[in-house]
Amino acid sequence: MALLRWTLSSPPGFFSLHRRCFSSTLRRPPLASAQPCGSENPGSSKVLLKEMDFPELEKWVQSQGYRSGQAMMLWKCLYGNNIWAHSDDELAGLNKEFRKMLSDNASLKSLIVKDIRESSDGTRKILFTLGDGMVIETVVIPCSRGRTTVCVSSQVGCAMNCQFCYTGRMGLRRHLSTAEIVEQAVFARRLFTSEFGSITNVVFMGMGEPFHNIENVIKAASIMVDEQGLQFSPRKVTVSTSGLVPQLKRFLHESNCSLAVSLNATTDEVRNWIMPINRKYNLGLLLGTLREELRFKHRYKVLFEYVMLAGINDSFDDAKRLIELVRGIPCKINLISFNPHSGSLFKPTPEEKMIEFRNILAEAGCVVFLRPSRGDDKMAACGQLGEPGDIQAPILRVPEQFQMAV
Ligand code: SF4
Repeated sequence: MALLRWTLSSPPGFFSLHRRCFSSTLRRPPLASAQPCGSENPGSSKVLLKEMDFPELEKWVQSQGYRSGQAMMLWKCLYGNNIWAHSDDELAGLNKEFRKMLSDNASLKSLIVKDIRESSDGTRKILFTLGDGMVIETVVIPCSRGRTTVCVSSQVGCAMNCQFCYTGRMGLRRHLSTAEIVEQAVFARRLFTSEFGSITNVVFMGMGEPFHNIENVIKAASIMVDEQGLQFSPRKVTVSTSGLVPQLKRFLHESNCSLAVSLNATTDEVRNWIMPINRKYNLGLLLGTLREELRFKHRYKVLFEYVMLAGINDSFDDAKRLIELVRGIPCKINLISFNPHSGSLFKPTPEEKMIEFRNILAEAGCVVFLRPSRGDDKMAACGQLGEPGDIQAPILRVPEQFQMAV
């Protein structure tokens, strides 16, 4: 889910939205395929170390004639011990010959910082240039309670075409590799740990629908929670989806990280419009799958994100339907204020109405939070990431009964 989906959520603050591409009319460059582990860095004959999880790195190091103990020392230089190495001269402690081999054959870095923008509330948006010149955005959100969250992107653009999302206007340009995802969290620690303290939370709520790039996302999340490396708690790494049901099931089976689902509507009619993925995996299927799958998870709660759009999904009837929809699903609900952006059809729900909506849910026993927007003056808030350019995903027809609201 593209960062549109965020207003600090679960980890205290982001949120997300999502979408899927049904826009066959969009002209796009071909998708760059995910690189297999240990594969070569495009444009170079060097291996990208951050494409590999530890067993893969260990195997590659051994294949070069070195011991597995040296692989662990290298892993700790990349991810642990507050080193977060980005260049050969930061590999202190590794023996000279091993460093020479790495310098000849391996690349430690796949992102270049293009710009860092600070919003008035302290949120930072980092623009990274990728090896092929494309640009992604990552947001670092400090929180007064000593918790800092990094919101990472999983794709350049997004195919889901959620109608309230700025990133969705871009269409999908390509998936990010495992290295490009992991390195966003590494950079957040390198750049901001001294200023904000520990970066404790990761949310996959930046540009892109993470489950559309599930292979690389599951692997990146597993690297982030490795106990010898970045050591994020799995509870504090949250992957957010617009509702790709088969991939959602796979994630719940293969990953111990947290899940957020961007819900945003209480009827199929509205969700089919604002989140076209619902035409493929409707509310009944999505919520039925969660109800079934979470029966087998111990002390696991899904986070539902609900971006409130004035006159579209914020009525008291919506609140009552939402209570029924999530009944029986262990969950928390984040109500997120909408961040308007240029060309957007929607308006944010007034704060008093959000509070009333929240109160209806809370009185019915739901665990529910209001999430303020962060970073919106620098287009770093939920749903505001990316740069759509001239060729944009289509705006879908507004259903008759909502034409007055947009
Ligand atoms: S369009 Fe993509 S990035 Fe935007 S909310 Fe939908 S899934 Fe998330």
